[in-house]
Amino acid sequence: MYVRGDLRTRLLAKIAVDPITGCWLWKAAKNNKGYGVLRVGDGNVYAHRASWVTHFGEVKTGQCVLHRCDVPACINPDHLFVGSHADNTADMLRKGRNRGWPKGRPFPREVVERRTATRLRRSA
Ligand SMILES: [Zn+2]
Repeated sequence: MYVRGDLRTRLLAKIAVDPITGCWLWKAAKNNKGYGVLRVGDGNVYAHRASWVTHFGEVKTGQCVLHRCDVPACINPDHLFVGSHADNTADMLRKGRNRGWPKGRPFPREVVERRTATRLRRSA
């Protein structure tokens, strides 16, 4: 068992704050998708999920903690929101983040626009 305050201390000891985005980047162990993980009790939990729980309280079973900033390693509670699995899938598709996106199939317009905007910003 862990005490909530202790967990928060553990979390905050393992982050680097990005001065530009405000992301709290997890510096310890990550899984193959880039999500921070840490051991709590006898199992591993997602660092961003643990961060949500220490700041806002428990997440219901079946609910996911999602990133507004689209940075898997980020655990800034201000960048997180809770949604269902369906929301998570929709969110992934919207951001073009799912790996299995078929080749040649256009990304949703919103993603393309966002990428174009980034490109324009870079070339400006
Ligand atoms: Zn973030």
